[in-house]
Amino acid sequence: MAEKEKKMIKTIRIDVDKCNGCRACEMICSAFHASPKYSSNNPARSRIRIIREPLKDIYVPVYAGEYTVAECAGRDKYTIDGKEYDECAFCRASCPSRDEFKEPDSGLPLKCDMCEGEEEPLCVKWCMHDALILEEREEEVEEQEEQEDLEIGLGSLADKFGVDKLMDALARMSEKE
Ligand code: SF4
Ligand code: SF4
Repeated sequence: MAEKEKKMIKTIRIDVDKCNGCRACEMICSAFHASPKYSSNNPARSRIRIIREPLKDIYVPVYAGEYTVAECAGRDKYTIDGKEYDECAFCRASCPSRDEFKEPDSGLPLKCDMCEGEEEPLCVKWCMHDALILEEREEEVEEQEEQEDLEIGLGSLADKFGVDKLMDALARMSEKE
């Protein structure tokens, strides 16, 4: 059986009723993750996206979650205030069947990293309406190796182009150095 360890878990509580769709969270997230940091601002690179229905005053923040190799079988529908949404609309996964939560240039998956290195997630800090609230609690979790971002990125490239092409490209790149 896997060993258990105590870990501080950070989560963000979303209060949909307080979100006014200003998208400040998307802007700061994309700027923080630009390379170099804060050099550009493109909401398509954000790890949080706001589903917006201004005419109905509906705004729903959704965070980028895990990368998934295959699309799921879920095809449920949600009806909110008379408008129908696909289940995929609220999904957190970076998945092959849609463009959300993918780096626009490379197609690499995006995942919220809670603004690693920052005291407080920047989307929480920049949300002036308290729609995003940081919560911390200690939990017993099974010890497991976190999959590195690099590994996740390479895995998704291998899925997209095949391992052979990926290896060829890496070999060519190392020859150029
Ligand atoms: S910053 Fe806050 S209010 Fe503005 S879109 Fe994001 S969650 Fe909503
Ligand atoms: S916690 Fe940081 S990485 Fe995650 S969505 Fe908010 S700003 Fe982006």
